[in-house]
Amino acid sequence: MTCKNYFIGAIALIVQSVAFLFLMITLGSTHASAQVNSANETKINALLKQMTLEEKVGQMAQVAIDVIGKTDYAHDTYALDQSKVEDVINNYKAGSILNTPGALLSASDWNQVINGINNAAQKNRLKIPVIYGLDHIHGVSYVGGGTLFPQPIAQAATWNRQLIFNAAVITAYESRAANVPWTFSPTLDLGSNPAWARQWENYGEDPYLSTELGIQAVKGFQDPLGSNEKIAVSLKHFMAYSDPKSGNDRTDAWIPEHYLREYHLPPYVAAVKAGARTVMVNSALINGVPTHINKHILTDILKNELGFTGFVVTDWQDIENIYRRDKIARTYKEAVMLCINAGIDMAMIPFDYKGFCTDLVELVKEGKVSMDRINDAVKRILRVKYELDLFKTPVTKLSDYPKFGSAEFAKASYNTAAESITLLKNANNVLPLLPTAKVLVTGPNANTMRSLNGGWTYNWQGDKTDKYAEKYNTILEAVTNKLGKNNVTFEQGVAYNMKGKYYEDSLINVDAAVQAAANVDYILLCVGENSYTETPGNLVDLSLSDNQVALANALIKTGKPVILILNEGRPRIISKIEPGMAAIIDVYLPSNFGADALADILTGDINPSGKLPITYPRHTNSLVGYIHKLSEGEGNPQGGEFTPQYPFGFGLSYTTFAYSDLAINKQTFSPDETLAVSVNVKNTGNKDGMEVVQLFISDLYASLAADARRLRGFEKINLKAGESKTVEFKVPVKQLAFVNLNNKKQLEEGDFKIAVSNLNTTFKVNKTVIF
Ligand code: BGC
Repeated sequence: MTCKNYFIGAIALIVQSVAFLFLMITLGSTHASAQVNSANETKINALLKQMTLEEKVGQMAQVAIDVIGKTDYAHDTYALDQSKVEDVINNYKAGSILNTPGALLSASDWNQVINGINNAAQKNRLKIPVIYGLDHIHGVSYVGGGTLFPQPIAQAATWNRQLIFNAAVITAYESRAANVPWTFSPTLDLGSNPAWARQWENYGEDPYLSTELGIQAVKGFQDPLGSNEKIAVSLKHFMAYSDPKSGNDRTDAWIPEHYLREYHLPPYVAAVKAGARTVMVNSALINGVPTHINKHILTDILKNELGFTGFVVTDWQDIENIYRRDKIARTYKEAVMLCINAGIDMAMIPFDYKGFCTDLVELVKEGKVSMDRINDAVKRILRVKYELDLFKTPVTKLSDYPKFGSAEFAKASYNTAAESITLLKNANNVLPLLPTAKVLVTGPNANTMRSLNGGWTYNWQGDKTDKYAEKYNTILEAVTNKLGKNNVTFEQGVAYNMKGKYYEDSLINVDAAVQAAANVDYILLCVGENSYTETPGNLVDLSLSDNQVALANALIKTGKPVILILNEGRPRIISKIEPGMAAIIDVYLPSNFGADALADILTGDINPSGKLPITYPRHTNSLVGYIHKLSEGEGNPQGGEFTPQYPFGFGLSYTTFAYSDLAINKQTFSPDETLAVSVNVKNTGNKDGMEVVQLFISDLYASLAADARRLRGFEKINLKAGESKTVEFKVPVKQLAFVNLNNKKQLEEGDFKIAVSNLNTTFKVNKTVIF
């Protein structure tokens, strides 16, 4: 560079920096992301200056644990292979390792393994620590002896922000006890398509509910980052992974940008604002574009518009998918180029690290990936490592975590399960059971820990859970503990097949179950799904399996009251047997203390308070959720129909609540004002109970067809029998805007309707604004 060029370059740099600063300040007012720490930035810049291209590319490489060691499945052990560690960490300088080796490691095993990896990293010239990541989506699912929580769909059914926060706090603590500073959680995909195999990994179908709970998870896991009890999150899977057109995992979604922004983006906006430090990318495609090469989504929206300052990691092997699966790139190298240029900072390779590192170094040398892009990616990765304090404390000591696997944490998991379990039907108040009840426990989900936990449990598919969770109670065991051995009979009727697809089951002894019913007062029929994770969980028919329906029909015929327990990750259709059920309870995937909580609910020691975070469909061809246009809903004379089995937000209690005095602070609002809504709720029954007060608002006329209604607030309250409370909501009027066809928010003047339980009222907005 000549002097002149250097001068022009310097001016350009200053102009660029001022523009960037201005951009950050502007963004700060809308989507302020976590502020970067200037002391860290100075260290990062200094470190970056010392790094070779190969060292930088190494930081961007994430390798699976299988590559650097050997698993002994029979003895549940794993040992690092030093020569492989040396190649991955010292030769290629990989910045991150992930995943379970398949065997269940204890916290102290994990400590050793991650110590080993970091000891190797300390031998590198620049001693940059390695960041280890695990899928702790419902507690420390890959750490033996740790605490597992109900899966996210069940956590969402509590509608209790504090419980989501607590679960994240405990999971962070126990992760750090095992030396793991990073988790691929929370999942903020909207559970809007019940056919999709991963619906249970999310906080339900509503953007507001997901937003509110996602914020709690981020804060619980991370705040304050740098403490040795906190871990970095990875929001996933950015974005709109959950609504594939085919219903199958990792397939194309057809979603226009204004709908992406209206429904799928808001939980991420809030979680980034809450300080989320990493984001994992949607493994599928949107409108034919694999998200991993979608620069508009990864760079324009996430990094620039939302001001995200952490790093973006691919999902598993997704760079390879660009050429092997999608046939967009002709070579792996071209796929690397497309992904990195779109905004990927770290590649979950996870196996061929040599290929990735070699290709990326070459791409930079060939000018196909700029050095600026590499520097940006590496800065982001180093930033998170500094923020986690990994440079000073790359590893932790198990002895500093005395509460790991404690009774206190188990109680937190139990409480979450107890508040999530949702009573969907209770004809003639058949529940709670009489203390003297004699019960037949039956069904494929009656005596297994596997289905109570679902996937991501001890191993990927959760298929070894019965071995590892033996000390916890199945539904049969919990009910027997509660009612006494003499009052409980067990005949399974249907069993899941041990080999083959997860959804296959067989009739085993339906006649025996029918005969056993003759001697009991109630039948507890436990049905649903076996565990599955990701693509293996694809399903062609959402109906409950034929064998389970056959068992249900045979038991209904006995004339004994049948209490249906649904233990499933997504709503399996039960409309053919529902009329024959005396009571129905959805336990979702309540994990290791879920059966104890269920037994306490069955006997009335706990009053159920869970509410559906999803719409429970009635028919396989009618999977529309509660967020839908009027044309799809009731009231459309041309045949719109919306008749779910149970609506979003539904759930019964053993007590009753009466709502009154719905009031708003004004009748007409300007866009900058805040709507204040209050309502009185009274427990009119004779049992203490908890109620989730839900505020729905409808835009009655809009230039783009409005949704029938949208959740805009909720509070869970405790009411003693006879007690009443006033609940207040504050909603900034601008939050009622919709995203218009130009992808801007538009609030239109006109009438809106508020509904809280059976009460409703209207108000007006006096001005149209676009922002
Ligand atoms: C899943 C992610 C997960 C990752 C790492 C992928 O296959 O889609 O949700 O975090 O694997 O295990």
